[in-house]
Amino acid sequence: MIQVKTYRYKLAPNLSQQRALGQWLGACRYVYNLSLSYKKTLWEQYKISIGKNDIQKELASIAKDTDWLGCVHSQVLQEVTDRVFNAFDGFFNRAAGRPGKGFPKFARKGQYQSFSFKQGVKINNTHVQLPKFGKIKYRNSRDCTGTIKRATVRECADGWYVCLCVETDIESLPINQNSIGIDVGIKSLLVTSDGETIDNPKHLYKAEKKLKRLQRSVSRKKKGSANRKKAVKKLARQHQKVANTRNDFQHKVTTRLIRENQAIACESLQIQNMLANHNLAKSISDAGWYSLTQMLEYKAKWYGRTFEKVSARHTSQDCSACGYRNTELTLAVRLWTCPSCGNIHDRDQNAAQNIKKKAVGHTVSAWEVYTPVAVVAQESPGL
Ligand SMILES: [Zn+2]
Repeated sequence: MIQVKTYRYKLAPNLSQQRALGQWLGACRYVYNLSLSYKKTLWEQYKISIGKNDIQKELASIAKDTDWLGCVHSQVLQEVTDRVFNAFDGFFNRAAGRPGKGFPKFARKGQYQSFSFKQGVKINNTHVQLPKFGKIKYRNSRDCTGTIKRATVRECADGWYVCLCVETDIESLPINQNSIGIDVGIKSLLVTSDGETIDNPKHLYKAEKKLKRLQRSVSRKKKGSANRKKAVKKLARQHQKVANTRNDFQHKVTTRLIRENQAIACESLQIQNMLANHNLAKSISDAGWYSLTQMLEYKAKWYGRTFEKVSARHTSQDCSACGYRNTELTLAVRLWTCPSCGNIHDRDQNAAQNIKKKAVGHTVSAWEVYTPVAVVAQESPGL
């Protein structure tokens, strides 16, 4: 099955390359604002709706006579005008009552952070080759396989990254008979219905602690001062570090869970509730949980696994053995005995077991692979 996969690598440009990347980004921002102002002015003053091709032709002729625009690859500049038109599409969508965005805004310095290539990008073990830019060293964290369809170079707080969108042929993993439910642990990252607890790595906690310290340090500094600017930069870098660390770890965990299990169920998280929550620690953990379930969802598709989200209602209160609903259970109780059947439950594991049960109830067919009967049926198509 052909799938689209994204690889993200940290680039290691030398000093002159860093400068050049900055120039490319600046040129793109300039083109973005110029295209936007063209479109806006022509419409406001003459009621002319200029098309993408006309703007691109105009830009090409400007770029020819301007060194600092001419040094940027023409397909990169074209992609910038695509962005302007996409922004307008979003605006018109909203005007028509569909989900969309407000009127496109001019990008100030620091607000425009990436540029993209639609073709011609190559990669080997040590370097990424960008058309017209040249080869840049990168940190090879995992091998990139497949055909590169798009490459985006982005400036982040801690340096430059490249995201490669590739099309790749992924083979389904061999079918196995394991299935699990997973629940967000209160102290850990997650707990499975088999009773396994997966904790976030210690260095993530350390990085988060440092993040809090830097946040306080920024708020203590005077607004507009040079010291504050320095502290803000440090803070942004630490944010990036925390995000990278979490991302790496979640990739490891989700890949392992998908390999080991044919079907995985988890509770669905309401995004609205997530954004409405003002407790910072809770919203960070929700955001982490959300990205984890997203990884499980797309990796399940890649490898031919089943992934299901179920409502979290009563999953903590119900006894996974007999179904008795323990309405007295408070959040503080970690271990409880079912008054009806006498089973002793670990709170999180019991919830994970209920989540798995719910998923099985929903889509019996998808979860059937685990019952021996269905496996026999699969092996002998004559049945
Ligand atoms: Zn019970």
